[in-house]
Amino acid sequence: MRRDFFSEEHELFRSQFRRFAEKEIAPKVPVWNERGMSDRETWRRCGEEGFLGASAPEVYGGAGGDFLYDAIIMEELADLRAHGLMISLHSNICRPYIEAYGSEEQKQKYLPGAVSGEILLGIAMTEPGTGSDLASIQTRAVRDADGYVLSGAKTFISNGQIGDLFIVVAKTDPSSVPPHDGISLFLVEAETQGFVRGRKLDKLGLRGQDTSELFFEDCRLPASALLGREGAGFRMLMQKLQQERLCIGVASIASCRRTLADTVAYVKQRRAFGRPIASFQHTQFALATLQSEVEIGQAFVDRLLVAHVRGDEIVSEVSMAKWWITELQKRLTSECLQLHGGYGFMREYPVSQDYADAAVQSIYAGTNEIMKVIIAKRMGLA
Ligand SMILES: Cc1cc2nc3c(=O)[nH]c(=O)nc-3n(C[C@H](O)[C@H](O)[C@H](O)COP(=O)(O)OP(=O)(O)OC[C@H]3O[C@@H](n4cnc5c(N)ncnc54)[C@H](O)[C@@H]3O)c2cc1C
Repeated sequence: MRRDFFSEEHELFRSQFRRFAEKEIAPKVPVWNERGMSDRETWRRCGEEGFLGASAPEVYGGAGGDFLYDAIIMEELADLRAHGLMISLHSNICRPYIEAYGSEEQKQKYLPGAVSGEILLGIAMTEPGTGSDLASIQTRAVRDADGYVLSGAKTFISNGQIGDLFIVVAKTDPSSVPPHDGISLFLVEAETQGFVRGRKLDKLGLRGQDTSELFFEDCRLPASALLGREGAGFRMLMQKLQQERLCIGVASIASCRRTLADTVAYVKQRRAFGRPIASFQHTQFALATLQSEVEIGQAFVDRLLVAHVRGDEIVSEVSMAKWWITELQKRLTSECLQLHGGYGFMREYPVSQDYADAAVQSIYAGTNEIMKVIIAKRMGLA
């Protein structure tokens, strides 16, 4: 169906990004998948071409466009299976915190570099002992005369090896009741003494993207590293999660489309019992069902994109999209792998990678169970 909310400028941007990505990103995907991380040069090239600042304010070097420009980037990267380059994490999950809550000094210091690709961003919430239950984090930031002393451990941090600046979630008041009122956010530069990068973790999927441990060993931060108000960290996180979950929905449905299109092409050429496997009614019904579900999912994502750009509060709806579409992606990649027979299990066939990559979608950015907790709460059930 025609997606008529994209303007001519959006479509022009899509063709520009696609041309760039086919030339400069796609050839690097196998290298990143092998090495377990992307490379700085590609990030810098993305910055140079204006692909890291499409929606950033003009005063900090961006183009001042809407979120749809960035959604286009997410869709095209998903289509190319370029998961190693997590532009949405950098531009749409991390940068908005600095834009929304940063002091003028913090914005001047970090935003132009984020837009140019010189400063790569990450966010460190999860710890070895807690992920979903964010209010139970143990990382501490203790105030003293010069600023804060940060200590603790984080894990599963995307861009952990390649990143330059991290939004770190820490407790400033561990005795606070409720506990989430004791949480604050800090901007921590990777150069800071006591900031230690741990292992780059070995993952089932998303192999081209680095996910790491981070440690803070009496890491001294100036008072100016605090982002927003002390104790307001949890609320700031909750306000920004709408966009994070929408990003997952956008990329997930685009990945479904890629896997499905490749599978349709495969079943038309693979033959069994003297005819293409596409001619079996089971194959037709399986793919017709998946195609219908993808269109239904896309229609919902598109509606959310329009509402998000309009500024609507759609926390419940993005939570619904996040769980429903990522569950669809997991089932779809499994069924498409099955339709490839033994070849589907071979790593040289992209569907095997799609199957592995899909697994994380229901886990990060808030697990799918947590999405249902949110929806249920907003239904007045808890
Ligand atoms: C590839 C990857 C990249 C990541 N990137 C980042 C990043 O950049 N920054 C970052 O901070 N984190 C990141 N994460 C961490 C991710 O957000 C967490 O893994 C996720 O929030 C779940 O936390 P957990 O792993 O501690 O699981 P747990 O919280 O221990 O959950 C285990 C299981 O219990 C269920 N569960 C927990 N609480 C409830 C409940 N109340 N009701 C019902 N079920 C419940 C969960 O749904 C899950 O199934 C990343 C993770 C991965 C795998």
